[in-house]
Amino acid sequence: MSIIPSGAKMGSTNLACRHCDTALDLLEMRAVNASNLTPDGLFQCPYCSSWYYPEIGLLHSLYGDGQVEKEYFGTPLSLGGTQKRDLNHVKAGEHRPIKMHSLEPGYEYDSIYLLGGHRDGVDEDNWLSFDLVGAQNRAMLGDSVLISLLRTDATEITINATLRENRASKSPIGFGDTLEVVYAATTQLGGVTNPPWIDLLQEAQEAIRQGNTLAALPVLRSAVDNCLIRQMFVYQLWDGHEQESARQSIEDLEDKYDPNRITIAKHGLEQATGTRLTDGPYDTLWADFSQVVEERDAIIHSETASQLAHPDQSTAIDFFNTTVSLLVAAYDLFGFHNSSA
Ligand SMILES: [Zn+2]
Repeated sequence: MSIIPSGAKMGSTNLACRHCDTALDLLEMRAVNASNLTPDGLFQCPYCSSWYYPEIGLLHSLYGDGQVEKEYFGTPLSLGGTQKRDLNHVKAGEHRPIKMHSLEPGYEYDSIYLLGGHRDGVDEDNWLSFDLVGAQNRAMLGDSVLISLLRTDATEITINATLRENRASKSPIGFGDTLEVVYAATTQLGGVTNPPWIDLLQEAQEAIRQGNTLAALPVLRSAVDNCLIRQMFVYQLWDGHEQESARQSIEDLEDKYDPNRITIAKHGLEQATGTRLTDGPYDTLWADFSQVVEERDAIIHSETASQLAHPDQSTAIDFFNTTVSLLVAAYDLFGFHNSSA
């Protein structure tokens, strides 16, 4: 799995202007009032002075170089979010509350995950194995130390390093040995209001990280419903509608068909752009996403099964990547990246 997913480069946020293609830098972000980042409020690009809807800025950032299908898991999703790496030390047998060195002013933790750990001062050739255990914030170092990372408040985390009770007596790590722990975080600007689909994707991502893969499936489906409707809404505004009439035209469309993602993917997109998400250039991706939905339905509506099946973590991550790819594909079909429009 890629450690640095697409969506925000180090030093910049996950918002990129579709007009000048520039990612919003963290320093520029300091001048932004977070409470102005809302779904229906336009944001002015500090580089070219064009206005864009923040969620379109996120989709443009995810779209990146125009390759739609890629790994999105782990990307910061909250409007204006970013990602950081850091390292810190903890003594075996202790836990240590820390503030991330590089947390920007106004930012707080969204999600944290371990990247590695080893005994301080030991040659890389002699590092013990580092294996995640069930979730991405817990790992075993060799077979004697459990390292875990816990968010204790918005801007503080705790690193724990505990020795296993029945470790081998010749275990290379003992009480008080210093461990160096490397971790990464996605961070979010406190006080922003995300559209529902972003909150839903963040929930799904966190559930998968924690090993709650089953909980992620219905959330992924709902995120697609909402994101397609939001993109249709912004498209209508782009096309000259006022907010009220844009809402009305989507409601009219949904009166005519069923109010769900398929209505937008098929009829909404066709009406707006003459293309569909359900067939055309992204028909395979649509089929892949339909399998995510079928998987969800098979698990949740399987009345004869005596217990719920849980997709394994890598399958759930694939589902997440397929889902976000589909949203970026819709962004492509709506033509939002066309800066001249
Ligand atoms: Zn710009």
